[in-house]
Amino acid sequence: MDTQMLIGSSMITGDGEEQIVLNPKTADAITQLPEATLAQVDMAVAAATRAFPTWSKTTPEERSRYLLAIAERLEAQSYEFAELEALDCGKPILAMRDDEMPPIIDCFRYFAGAARNLQGSVAGEYMPGFTSMIRRDPVGIVGSIAPWNYPLMMMAWKLAPALAGGNTVVFKPSEETPLTALKMAKLLAEVLPEGVVNIILGRGQTVGNALINHPGVHMVSITGDVGTGKKVLQAAANNIKRTHLELGGKAPVIIYNDADLNNAIDTIRTYGYYNAGQDCVAACRIYADKSIYDNFVADLSSAVSSIRFNQSDDTQNEIGPLVSQRQRERVAGFVERASEHKHIEVTAGGNRADSNGFFYEPTVVAGALQSDEIVKKEVFGPVVSVTPFDQNSNNVLDWANDSEYGLASSIWTKDISKAMKASADLRYGCTWVNTHFMLCNEMPHGGLKQSGYGKDMSHYALEDYTVVRHVMINHE
Ligand code: NAD
Repeated sequence: MDTQMLIGSSMITGDGEEQIVLNPKTADAITQLPEATLAQVDMAVAAATRAFPTWSKTTPEERSRYLLAIAERLEAQSYEFAELEALDCGKPILAMRDDEMPPIIDCFRYFAGAARNLQGSVAGEYMPGFTSMIRRDPVGIVGSIAPWNYPLMMMAWKLAPALAGGNTVVFKPSEETPLTALKMAKLLAEVLPEGVVNIILGRGQTVGNALINHPGVHMVSITGDVGTGKKVLQAAANNIKRTHLELGGKAPVIIYNDADLNNAIDTIRTYGYYNAGQDCVAACRIYADKSIYDNFVADLSSAVSSIRFNQSDDTQNEIGPLVSQRQRERVAGFVERASEHKHIEVTAGGNRADSNGFFYEPTVVAGALQSDEIVKKEVFGPVVSVTPFDQNSNNVLDWANDSEYGLASSIWTKDISKAMKASADLRYGCTWVNTHFMLCNEMPHGGLKQSGYGKDMSHYALEDYTVVRHVMINHE
């Protein structure tokens, strides 16, 4: 197991406090890793700063080759990365190997191509005697901070566009799930020039805080909690850093009475609970037309009760545990508070699973009202709420939009006009029609409202990691 950080071209052990990394399936310690000291954060920023003048002058073709080389090496070690991530996060190995690794590798390949295809305004004489042109240049030194739910995927989403854009990076994984970032540290040290990517370990309040406040960092990219996003914004105000925020979500799923219910239930069974619901686009806030509500709840509950987890043969598992005891207690707290309402019925799951690991039963909370906490707040666990609506008296689109989050949404209907109108009215970064959760590297992922702003994947991410500059030539 790789345990060292990458600063410049050196693999270095942290000199700070040791942090225990737990196996969420068993609650046993996997390893202990010392975090970086503040002096080591400074060293990492200094290494990125030294690397910037050369890296930022590489041609798109050169950066593209580096990104392709990263993809190739990642692909060659794909199963080892999948095993390590499965161990660190508790993910089922097949989900990691088959669902996550291919788009992670493809992310580097996508940005290898995108680096060579930036589009922009034409140069021209917008004032007589002067030619104007637009350049897209790197932002500078990017501080990137990732969460624990998809550690390697978030690393790819952050590193690939930043490098494609000509930036150098100091990257911090979540203290809960640092292992694949350390394996990547070794891989990147073999591929990239010194200091282009630096990887440091540590907690949010220590190393993360130092990175977001560092005067040498020009942009902070973070995926995490809304509260953490606010801290980033406050820190950024001190020296006007750019920020790229991917925060939480509470995706509404509207099931109209003409929907293909089998397809909807099948999709929610998978994507309401994928990654044990620790997913900011999880299909977790269902609104079902009252004319189909009873059947829908019964069929969904029976489907959800069949989700396989905590089996000794991991290839049989569809979902894993929560990442930590703290996260499981948080999830259990939401369900316990919801159960206290008379109008609510827990129709599937509703308990901690009997295990040393941090498993929680896949749960359906039926009869939830729009004003309930379970409808309003992000649970980030295997819990889906269902709320009935009456097409004649409730404006379900208003309910769907009534959220501080704005990341993803879906609507289920065979009526194309209804689908078009709802897609236009929903205030979410993404709306799926008759599907949910589908992401691809060519399309942007990012939110509105308190889900943050800044796009991952797609050419919009490359734009986010570059700055527009105007160059004007006087040729009179
Ligand atoms: P978190 O905000 O606690 O931690 C995220 C990262 O931020 C970690 O690396 C952590 O060490 C760091 N951090 C925490 N406090 C910090 C501080 N004061 N200064 C600097 N860095 C700090 O979130 P989490 O618990 O790891 O992740 C779960 C959250 O992330 C959920 O709310 C989820 O919705 C959100 N999320 C969003 C997306 C998205 O694309 N929008 C994707 C995944 C997760």
